[in-house]
Amino acid sequence: MRSPAILRNILLFLVLALLPAGAKQIEWKIKEHRGNKYVPLSQVKDFYNLTSMTLSGNKIILKNSDLTLKFRAGGQEVLMNDVKFIFSHGIVALGGYHMSVTDLLKIVDPVLRPYKIEGAKAFETVIIDPGHGGRDPGAVNSLGTEAGYNLNVARLLRDRLQKRGFKVVMTRNSDIFLTLQQRVALANKYKNAIFVSIHFNSAGSTGRTQARGIETFTLSPVGVAHYGRSLKSSDLISREGNAQDSANIALATAVHWNSLQRLNKAKMNVPDRGVRRARYSVLTGVKHPAILFEGGFLSHPKEKHLINTQTYQTTLANAIGEAIFFYRQATLRQNKTAKKK
Ligand SMILES: [Zn+2]
Repeated sequence: MRSPAILRNILLFLVLALLPAGAKQIEWKIKEHRGNKYVPLSQVKDFYNLTSMTLSGNKIILKNSDLTLKFRAGGQEVLMNDVKFIFSHGIVALGGYHMSVTDLLKIVDPVLRPYKIEGAKAFETVIIDPGHGGRDPGAVNSLGTEAGYNLNVARLLRDRLQKRGFKVVMTRNSDIFLTLQQRVALANKYKNAIFVSIHFNSAGSTGRTQARGIETFTLSPVGVAHYGRSLKSSDLISREGNAQDSANIALATAVHWNSLQRLNKAKMNVPDRGVRRARYSVLTGVKHPAILFEGGFLSHPKEKHLINTQTYQTTLANAIGEAIFFYRQATLRQNKTAKKK
């Protein structure tokens, strides 16, 4: 029997994912700004059947009874039903507020209309990639190594997924060193799969030890910079993983959102650092929908103790496992919807 709480979670994700199915035909009024294309938020509102747009200070809120989108003038952080996404470009005032076409196509639309996603095929295999290992311990603190925590969570996740009937492949199941290319090559041997890389963060030893929280990375779309860097010419080249841009963001949304929900419910609040874009090698080369999950900061004086607990690791593994199940449910529903058309 499913508990009502789990059922509610599935519904919430599906609401986030599937609700604005009746998007309207619209002639977008595109404006150019600093080499990028932008569309008015007022048109975004109409397109997704949102009923109100309110401005207060630098906050812009678009909503209807089921969906709320919160923007900030000049800002790249956007909340969709309270899940944080880091846009590739800020919201700009060009005679009314505008968002970039890249963010509309690569974040907003795949999250709101996953039935349009190409490449979100039904899948049965989950490839779990515990980051680092062997001579590369990843981040290290006084309690343990990132490689060790990654493997713990990966094994717990494997058990959860197997119970739900998924086939699971682990890129490593012991403390061994693998190159990023070996991880990608192994993942690409499988068909009908998704790829989940598990990591923990570190802000380094100098200064920024206050950084904390969870973040989920997906591959930067073409024309979007690697996390924290400015745009380079190599960012304009399409990679293997870009074929799954839309599926990537939908999978990231499910995992990120559910991890926050589950940690919150278990009274282990960690800050939401958002769904972000990066051009990490494992995300670049994998031919499946792929994400890289960062489960907290080993460099934070409090969070490192939380991460070291069995409860935290189990809660994360449960949350990710459940999110993968939600994502598959949404995919199945999407395939059914597609067949009816
Ligand atoms: Zn790492």
